[in-house]
Amino acid sequence: MVILLNRIIISTLLIIIIIYFIYKNNNQFYKNIKDVKKPYKLDTLVNKNNRLSKYYRPYDLIKINESYSNKNKYLRRDACKHFELLSKDAKSEGYRIIAVSTYRSYFYQKELFNHYVKTKGLKKALIASAKAGHSEHQLGLSVDVEGSNFDYNKFEESKEFKWMIKNAYKYGFILRYPKGKEYITGFKYEPWHFRYVDVKIAKFIHDKKITLEEYKKTR
Ligand SMILES: [Zn+2]
Repeated sequence: MVILLNRIIISTLLIIIIIYFIYKNNNQFYKNIKDVKKPYKLDTLVNKNNRLSKYYRPYDLIKINESYSNKNKYLRRDACKHFELLSKDAKSEGYRIIAVSTYRSYFYQKELFNHYVKTKGLKKALIASAKAGHSEHQLGLSVDVEGSNFDYNKFEESKEFKWMIKNAYKYGFILRYPKGKEYITGFKYEPWHFRYVDVKIAKFIHDKKITLEEYKKTR
């Protein structure tokens, strides 16, 4: 009887442990959320499982030269300088790459997400937008760009998209939400959204054809 009871207890414990590991390894978005510890690091991961504090605002935000952005767009110093150089070089080759959305505060993101929910419903909002604290734009390292067709939504159809795919990494930027990697990034394919990580890391990610999530796993 005691032996039988022991076996039942052991089996139950084993089942609980197995369920725990399945749950832990199942990358469920907006579940098992961790708070970001070092938001100022250039390769910081912010996504549906890694959240920024509502008080985080980068200390070195600077305004992008208006030749390369539409009005009042801010990025962190390093990202800004590299973006200006990228846009300037592209311009000299006959391309138009303009920053249309860059740093967004926690509170602005909150409004943006709520607006999406109100106009399109929660399901669509969860796919197309990020909850406050879960948007990379709060890092001041992300940029949504527009090309010569003046519509970021149609950036993929512009000649600038091909230029970016070929050259962005040389300036430290990666295409952050690639097609076919939605199950890893948690976000739909966004041909217009680029993320600054620095030149060395961008080259590594570009050469290996991986996402920032996969890169962080190798660290
Ligand atoms: Zn974006």
